[in-house]
Amino acid sequence: MSENPIAISNLNDFIFCPVSIYFHSLDYDTEKMTYQNSDQLNGTAVHTTVDSGTYSSKKSMLQSITVYSEKYNLSGKIDLYDSKKFQLIERKKKVHKIYDGYVFQVYAQYFGLLELGYRVDKFTIHSIDDNKTYPIPLPSEDNIMFSKFENLIDSISDFQFDDFKQSNINKCNRCIYEPLCSFSALKE
Ligand code: SF4
Repeated sequence: MSENPIAISNLNDFIFCPVSIYFHSLDYDTEKMTYQNSDQLNGTAVHTTVDSGTYSSKKSMLQSITVYSEKYNLSGKIDLYDSKKFQLIERKKKVHKIYDGYVFQVYAQYFGLLELGYRVDKFTIHSIDDNKTYPIPLPSEDNIMFSKFENLIDSISDFQFDDFKQSNINKCNRCIYEPLCSFSALKE
């Protein structure tokens, strides 16, 4: 795609559809768009709260640390880091299932934190609306997911718009950007 660092927040979007990253970068007001995909919108409100630093005043809870992984050329912000428990926490508005993209975002934050010198022993994804917490194995504890993560980074690095064709019409049917998208399978 480019030599610029890959935004951690783009990992999940890329899995959904690489073109959606382009629309996302244009910063459309997704709440006003007619077609809404809950998978695309669920993370947004939570991270707005995180970015404004309003979640927690506990000194052991570090929020919105900017991280960069040189190894994977990834950059972005973590959600929460508990410096007492050495725990990375990623909150989502409502988690219906643990999608691979959610795990990869946490992996990316994890590698970024490690390169900054933080210790991370465990991580969890927290679903705010129903107050459920899902422990996620570390990459070293899940070879299959770790391998998928590295393959995803390679795919993003090698991605070319010219070669892309969205073949999954169901994705376009659920996509908030479909009315604007010339790559849509619905427009063929
Ligand atoms: S409409 Fe289809 S091709 Fe376009 S961004 Fe959405 S999923 Fe991708």
